[in-house]
Amino acid sequence: RTMSSRQYASVIDKAFINGQWVSAASGKTFQVVDPATCQPISSVPDMNIDDVKLAVASADKAFQSWKHTTAKERSQLLRKWYELLVEHQQSLAEILTLEAGKPLSESLGEVGYGNAFVEWFAEEAKRTYGEVVPSPVKSRELIVLRQPIGPVGLITPWNFPHAMITRKAAAAIAAGCTCVIKPAEDTPFTALALAELAAKAGLPKGVINVVTSSRANAGPIGKYLCESPQIAGISFTGSTAVGKLLYEQCAEGVKRLGLELGGNAPFIVFAGANLEKAADGALASKFRNCGQTCISANRFLIQDTVFDEFVAKLRQRIEKLVMGDGKTAGCTMGPLINMDQVKKVEQIVEDAVAKGAKVVVGGKRALELGERFFHPTLLTGIKENMRCYKEEIFGPVAVCIPFSSEEECVKVANSTERGLAGYFYTGDIAQAWRVAKELEVGMVGVNEGLISHAETPFGGIKESGIGREGSKHGMDEYTYIKYVCFGNL
Ligand code: ADP
Repeated sequence: RTMSSRQYASVIDKAFINGQWVSAASGKTFQVVDPATCQPISSVPDMNIDDVKLAVASADKAFQSWKHTTAKERSQLLRKWYELLVEHQQSLAEILTLEAGKPLSESLGEVGYGNAFVEWFAEEAKRTYGEVVPSPVKSRELIVLRQPIGPVGLITPWNFPHAMITRKAAAAIAAGCTCVIKPAEDTPFTALALAELAAKAGLPKGVINVVTSSRANAGPIGKYLCESPQIAGISFTGSTAVGKLLYEQCAEGVKRLGLELGGNAPFIVFAGANLEKAADGALASKFRNCGQTCISANRFLIQDTVFDEFVAKLRQRIEKLVMGDGKTAGCTMGPLINMDQVKKVEQIVEDAVAKGAKVVVGGKRALELGERFFHPTLLTGIKENMRCYKEEIFGPVAVCIPFSSEEECVKVANSTERGLAGYFYTGDIAQAWRVAKELEVGMVGVNEGLISHAETPFGGIKESGIGREGSKHGMDEYTYIKYVCFGNL
């Protein structure tokens, strides 16, 4: 274990396979940097297929006994894991801020949210009920069982390094599956800290394995997991491009697949809405995690009669954001995660400005703070030919577009191949119900900008994904339904 330079919680510099802290067989490592300072935090093993084979074998071996545990045993171990996660929430949040850059208060929020999945699935583990079906013929009894699908591969992104793992792993483990986790290359330390606490809680070796790798090895590792006959399913959260590739790779083995991909959330403000609350919700939805959230508001559609007033209110709130190193007290917005993200956000803003958009506030990098900081930005004068109109921005850039009728705005909101989240603010209850039903998304916030809970189903429609995580539906991905017919009774 190495201490980070600034006396933050210590990070683990080894991967976790079969209950052991291990290096890559090749001996290779890669460096992970703090996005706020661009200073190295530590290195972790740069694993490849040779290492993943061991992790898969370990998960497979563990599954042979884990699948025979009782739901109550799994529940109790998950509960212990949850209690340790709560006990260590401060250091987990510190590690998260160190590697992901988000303000410490936000990291504590993510840890609370992420921990809640472990608590939830500790409880749900006991409720994987089957069914007894009334038989249409005499002398038969018809039973439906739910059984764990087997070892699963979990591939997670850097924007929620804690919650994206617990949301998958806790559900898988509750169902009786074992897992091989491949965290994002930018944020491996949270994953390793989670595994350490899982082991401490008494989860048997091989139930959780964490394989760290650089970006260069992520492709081959993903392919191996998709194609390995020992892996029963894949759950992925990340970009649409990689999600589509995994879908393809899973086809050969007709493998279970859960996908949580990109969004392009509309955030609609109708004329009768409470504009103060709408602006608060807009700020929270857009600028949390520096805009790097798949359910972030991506397009603000504002009814023309309140457009100027809403823009002014949002601007006031944006100007109060305190950008800086997430480790400093009072900081409310951190840096972008990496230079690819910085370039993408910068190009999207430059493209809009070149095509006539107006920068109300922000619009450029904050180099005085560091390479990866981008000022929170508000753009108006948006046209359909601008990249920000269609693409997922994934950065601290709010674009406001006026509309005149409900029909028009719903049409614009739905004019995307994505369908993850959508938000709208209204004072009219009939409109609330109508628009909630019309939006082509998996999750809707009515007069609310932050809507995720462990208790509710998270997921999208259209190209935003397949399946649901969290909630009572979250274990479906990890269980098979088996019908058993008792005949000749
Ligand atoms: P982002 O563009 O936001 O980094 P990605 O979809 O590229 O999102 O990354 C999400 C996760 O997918 C990360 O853990 C990353 O290492 C992994 N990944 C990247 N490329 C591949 C791939 N070809 N196959 C499997 N996983 C991949």
